[in-house]
Formats: sequence, structure tokens, C-alpha cells
Amino acid sequence: MDYQAILNVIEKEFSPTEDMGNVAAYIPELSKVNPLKFGVYLFCQDGSSFEFGDSQEKFSIQSVSKVFTLTIAKELLGKDLWKRVNVEPSGTPFNSLTELERESGIPRNPFINAGSIVVADALLSVLDNPKRDLLKFVRKLCGDDDIHYDEAVARSEKKNGYRNKALVNYMKALGNIDNDTDEILDFYFYQCSIAMNCDQLSKAFMLYANEGKHFQTQEKVIDRQSVKRINSIMQTCGFYDEAGEFSFRVGLPGKSGVGGGIVAVHPEKYSVAVWSPMLNEKGNSALGMKVLERLTTLTGFSIF
Ligand code: GLU
Repeated sequence: MDYQAILNVIEKEFSPTEDMGNVAAYIPELSKVNPLKFGVYLFCQDGSSFEFGDSQEKFSIQSVSKVFTLTIAKELLGKDLWKRVNVEPSGTPFNSLTELERESGIPRNPFINAGSIVVADALLSVLDNPKRDLLKFVRKLCGDDDIHYDEAVARSEKKNGYRNKALVNYMKALGNIDNDTDEILDFYFYQCSIAMNCDQLSKAFMLYANEGKHFQTQEKVIDRQSVKRINSIMQTCGFYDEAGEFSFRVGLPGKSGVGGGIVAVHPEKYSVAVWSPMLNEKGNSALGMKVLERLTTLTGFSIF
């Protein structure tokens, strides 16, 4: 497969224009990002890689971080985790409160905010230093120590994250939160603030495309069953209330974040990260979705 030729076609066909969507403004720090940034990085299982545009520029990974925290929590807690968070698509926005009332404070899945806040709470209970351990895990997956929290983004969200404060307090009232709510949100906002580029993200996500093994050392980090489960949740819940649409158009498991990043994996083939900060009305990168749809059309294969 000539991935470079395919990326060349995509680079020619798509360029960002300001009418493609809006940069996330509910986190003020994110609204400062240039909407016209655009980068792609594709890493193959055989070690080859292909890229264009702003693929080396870091951005706020936001909800993409939910895949990393879920991976750690699943390893440390096993089946107990699923008593506190379900694995069903939500069909509602990422920050929705409505289902929690009907479903006794058990979030629909770990990739909506409520679910990831429960995962953050679970990690707080088992890790001595969750912020340090999360960063260590992500750096290891990428084989790169130059990955950091963006303090300004974390502070900005802490100041304005009223819906997340509502979610954690509501779940506390319903008995699904163990730790101090401020401590949980502090960790959650920091996890969302991690800054990475497309190169680093696609390498980290090779874990889910490479049978749970590190992209470089081939060391086993998680088992194949964990890969199956996490990819399944990405497939069904990775794009909030647009998970069906992403699956229909792209046909790969993936995860988006309101920083405009999307990472998708083709198991045993490649992992690909796209960044374009203009979001559609569901909170997913509008151009990112188009690019990935074109990628699986041009390669002629998806997981289906
Ligand atoms: N930090 C964001 C929030 O909690 C993450 C949302 C996202 O990327 O979907 O609202």
C-alpha cells in the first residue's frame, strides 16, 4: 500500500477554511488556537510512517486522554471497573447529565465526561500519584519524554468546567464517587490538558493496532483481550453522539477530543492521528472526520 501517495492525494484535496466549524470556546484557553492548523501522521505496524502539515505541532488532546486512563484503570482494576461504568453508546453529548438521573449515577461509557470522571476517581483510589503515573505511561507508549501537561489549559478548564463539576457532584450524591470531588476534577482536567502532536499520538495508539505491544520495543503492555475491549468501546462510543456516523463513514475504531484531534486504528495495519481544531456541532473535528473517511476509501479497507 502506497500510503505516501494516498496522503499526498488527501493533502491536495483538503485544506482547512474557517467555515468548517468552530474551535472549542467553552474552555477559553482552547479558543486561542489557530483554526487553520491541519496535520496528519500515519504509523504502520512495519515501522514506516507518513505525514503532512502540522503533524509535529502539539495540541491539547482533551478526550483522547480518556483512552489512556481507561487502559490504566482496566489493567489495575479488572472487571470491578465495569460495576461503575457501562459500555453502551450514549447517544447524547459528551457532557450530558440527563442519563445519570435515569441510570442511578452509572455513566453509559468511559468515553463521555461522566464515565471518564469515574475512571479518574478509580485511579485516584489505586495510584499514589495519578498525574505522574499517567504522564509516565503516555511517555512510555510514545517512547518520548517530551510530553507534558499544559497548565494554562488545565487552569482554564478548572475555572470554567461547571458541567463537569455538576457531573461529579451528582454522581457523588448517587454513590458512584469515592474520592474528594475537587481532587478528582483536578486530575481529570490535567489528563485532558496533555499536549501531544499527531506523531506522538499515532505512535501511542499503536498499542491498540499492534496487539497490545509497544510500537518500538514490541514489549507486551496489555493483553489482546484488553485491546479487543478498548477498541470495541472506541468503535461504539469514541465520538459521543456521532459514534454511529464515524463508524459508518470511516469504519475504524477511534477517539476524538475537543482540541480537534482524532486518532483511529486499523488493527494489525496502522494508527493514524489527524488534527484540525474546527469542530462540528457534535464536538468532533469536522475536517478530521472527512480526512479519515477519505483515507479508508482510498486504501479500500477498513475493519469491516
Ligand atoms: N476536557 C473536556 C471536557 O471535559 C473534554 C471534552 C472532549 O474532548 O470531548 O469538557
